[in-house]
Amino acid sequence: MSSPTTGKFAKNPGTSFMRSLCMGQIEEEIILPYPKLADGEKETLNGMIDSLGSWLSAKEPEFRHWDRKGELPTEFLNEMKQLGLFSLIVPEEHGGLGFKSGAYSRLLQEIAKYDGSVAITAGAHSSIGMRGVLLYGTDEQKAKYFPKLASGEMIAAFCLTEPGAGSDAASIRTKAVRDGKDWLISGEKLWITNGGIAGFYTVFAKTEGPEGHMTAFIVTRDQEGVSVGPHEDKMGLRASSTTTVSFDKVRITPENVLGEVGKGFKVAMGILNSGRTGLGGGCVGSMKHCIELATKQAKQRVQFGKPIAEYGLIKQKIGHMVVECYATESVVNLVAGLVDQGYQDYSIEAAISKVFATECLWRTADEALQVAGGNGYMCEFPYERILRDCRVNRIFEGTNDILRLFIALSAMNDVGKSLKELSSSLEGIFNDPIKGFGVLSSYALRMAAHTTGVGGTKKVFTQLHPSLKSAAAIFEEGTSDLAIAADRILRKHGKNIIGKQFASKRLADIMIDLFVLSAVLSRVDSSIREKGLDKAKQEIEILEVFSGQVRRRTKGNFGKIDNNDDELIKDLADHALENEKYSWDNL
Ligand SMILES: Cc1cc2nc3c(=O)[nH]c(=O)nc-3n(C[C@H](O)[C@H](O)[C@H](O)COP(=O)(O)OP(=O)(O)OC[C@H]3O[C@@H](n4cnc5c(N)ncnc54)[C@H](O)[C@@H]3O)c2cc1C
Repeated sequence: MSSPTTGKFAKNPGTSFMRSLCMGQIEEEIILPYPKLADGEKETLNGMIDSLGSWLSAKEPEFRHWDRKGELPTEFLNEMKQLGLFSLIVPEEHGGLGFKSGAYSRLLQEIAKYDGSVAITAGAHSSIGMRGVLLYGTDEQKAKYFPKLASGEMIAAFCLTEPGAGSDAASIRTKAVRDGKDWLISGEKLWITNGGIAGFYTVFAKTEGPEGHMTAFIVTRDQEGVSVGPHEDKMGLRASSTTTVSFDKVRITPENVLGEVGKGFKVAMGILNSGRTGLGGGCVGSMKHCIELATKQAKQRVQFGKPIAEYGLIKQKIGHMVVECYATESVVNLVAGLVDQGYQDYSIEAAISKVFATECLWRTADEALQVAGGNGYMCEFPYERILRDCRVNRIFEGTNDILRLFIALSAMNDVGKSLKELSSSLEGIFNDPIKGFGVLSSYALRMAAHTTGVGGTKKVFTQLHPSLKSAAAIFEEGTSDLAIAADRILRKHGKNIIGKQFASKRLADIMIDLFVLSAVLSRVDSSIREKGLDKAKQEIEILEVFSGQVRRRTKGNFGKIDNNDDELIKDLADHALENEKYSWDNL
């Protein structure tokens, strides 16, 4: 990314919390203190949230109607433009609000409380559609496009997916071939959010050549050869525009190359990583909405002579919704805050926040619907729409399965490097035991510290409030387990780890749990320091519940590294795949 490292991470731009954690190191200064929005941002946000709230809450019946019809009317889109919903991340000097990640994510939260289709229309524009210009654009591209993108004169879309290239984005077939200094783009993109209403497309095409295999381009709707397909009829987010976008020898001048020629894959991943706090914010907003709906419903609905809110199983659902919402909000805000403070290597942390947020929202929406019983199933109420709308979050912007593999393999890459270093140290030991012992790598020493409990550095929190000792101990023990797990998995599978997805998923799940726990610890620590122990009592309770869940899950995943049913499950899957059916019908 082009932005220089400033602020908290200026001195040490390469430090990564999660990469270090996989090696057993707790870099607490990265996540402490818990980041906060600047006062100026808070003020702007508060004003916007007030006006958004009164505008959007009055439109609830329309949202339901537009969802059924599958369209956001032009007049409504114009109102969104007037309210500045397309200008959120455009720098102020180009006519935008200049929101950084934290403020942007918070605002999307507010929109998502009311309607998913509206949130995705604004979110796809800023999170992925035009973000490439912010991250990689030239001054000329910024001056030319930002004012139109901010006003909504041009709505933006991100065009990567194709019929044959979903998760495997590098296999796209859309091509850009040189024609003199220009390029001619041809190909078809699939399921493009805002496709039908956009005037600006960030398009990825294959550009075989010495520079690399993919390049990002800016294409506008008015160019000859650009066409869009019909509105897709979807399960959820039905009012948002999703279409194919086709390019037939569309001429692109060199000024509209986005980033470097041949570096398009890096541009695509950079945009997706950077935009993740937007989706995370949207998930938090929908979860808060679910909690409001479920608590009101539980108090109103009387069964067996009492409001159902008084029954344990209903309280259990609501309590868990609260814990998951707090944990999601904590991790999404932490990642956004880190990005805003100049933290550079955030791809693992951002992926974790996306996976965690989208899965917590799915559970929360499902449980809110359960609290509402049959009403939850009726289209007259908002629950089923929320559930339909949020399902896709686990699929787009990188499926959660692919992101889990990315999370585990990125961390394991570092452990692998250290293991290589260790094996050369060991060669030294065999050649000359005394000298060899002296060169034992720091990684090996740290691993020894984890297994023996002696020596090693940064294995514990030193700056957390003393009252958080037991939750911090769970985190510290989990970190040891993580480092040992990464080491053991890699030694067991070596290079074959790429094909060992069950093991990778386990490691990713431990990493997800620990990073989210670090976010909750950091946030509760800040709350105690600001409000005092008494006023932070319930947040401490949330931490206690969440850290207990993390401990149980982490221990479970850790235990399954060597003792699991992976081969049996694989065998059963192979059997089903071979027969293409379930084989044990009892008729
Ligand atoms: C409503 C909607 C809006 C969208 N908006 C956009 C947009 O604006 N721009 C854009 O470019 N794209 C967009 N997409 C596309 C989206 O990003 C893709 O759907 C997503 O990347 C997954 O690709 P796929 O659907 O082809 O699934 P596939 O890649 O075919 O995956 C199918 C399943 O297999 C799993 N899988 C795939 N490979 C592996 C592997 N190696 N190991 C293990 N599991 C694997 C996946 O996790 C998934 O569960 C949108 C999609 C939808 C549904």
